[in-house]
Amino acid sequence: MSTNTAPLPTYDDVVAAAQRLQGVAHRTPVLTSRTMDEQLGARLFFKCENLQRIGAFKFRGAYNALAQFTPEQRKGGALAFSSGNHAQAIAQAAQLLDMPALIVMPEDAPASKMAATRGYGAQVVTYNRFTEDREAIAHKLATERGMTLIPPYNHRDVIAGQGTAVKELLEEVPDLDYLFVCLGGGGLLSGSLLAANALAPQCKVIGVEPEAGNDVQQSLRAGHIVKIDTPRTIADGAQTQAPGDLTFAIIQQRVNEVLTVNDEQLVQAMRFYAERMKIVVEPTGSLSLAAAIHGGLPLKGKRVGIVISGGNVDLERFASLLSE
Ligand SMILES: *Cc1c(COP(=O)(O)O)cnc(C)c1O
Repeated sequence: MSTNTAPLPTYDDVVAAAQRLQGVAHRTPVLTSRTMDEQLGARLFFKCENLQRIGAFKFRGAYNALAQFTPEQRKGGALAFSSGNHAQAIAQAAQLLDMPALIVMPEDAPASKMAATRGYGAQVVTYNRFTEDREAIAHKLATERGMTLIPPYNHRDVIAGQGTAVKELLEEVPDLDYLFVCLGGGGLLSGSLLAANALAPQCKVIGVEPEAGNDVQQSLRAGHIVKIDTPRTIADGAQTQAPGDLTFAIIQQRVNEVLTVNDEQLVQAMRFYAERMKIVVEPTGSLSLAAAIHGGLPLKGKRVGIVISGGNVDLERFASLLSE
């Protein structure tokens, strides 16, 4: 049950987002793999958002949100708190739309991520994760500077933007039986559900969380949003503690199932992508394939979509994960 009175986004919002993103976001390729098809006895279609701008699908939602700012909001600019792909997405979208961006990041965030975010022209404000409250800092800065805070998943325009990846996939591969989607706070999954239900109503949509961070699975079982402790998992893009009220409402209405996979299964999927498909996929981006392999669903003879959500992982970390 949603307590938010804002109307939920619909497929029409995904279509409008796709128009805004036309010529701005990459139309990412859909890859196939005979090796994996043979292993699973199915036909797999990989939507490669690791090859999206900033290296993850989050560019779609961020740009769709910022492109709809009023002239007043544009002047103030966009603000986000994140150390991950959402930060870079907001920074790049703001740069393209010629507005200021401010990102609130923990002071111990990877130097490469801070540098990338600054590289897109955003200002970075750091805070101490152990002693300071980032939301309080972000809200204070937003008020002081007249900036608009864009959350990473629980936002209509963000959800609609994320849905455009699966819209593209289904336009290219119309008759999928199953679709596996990586799941953190649920922006990508809820947008994907809007697109899949409209374009391929027969397609079963499966969300995939890390085993240690199954807040959405627990929330679905309880029938209300359940908040968990920050999970320990290598899937750093899915370390959310709870879905949002908008994302949870859409997921609760529409999802077929939410599955979980463990870190070892994620590493195995990352290795497969690198070795066999020659692509770098970050741990969180490997959730979907790991569940297709280990989730126990009857995929034999089926056509299966796999959303690869992102590819941002330091090469040193990538190497050390694969060598463990
Ligand atoms: C943010 C992110 C996710 C999770 O997306 P949600 O919309 O929060 O569910 C998955 N994979 C990658 C690579 C991400 O950056």
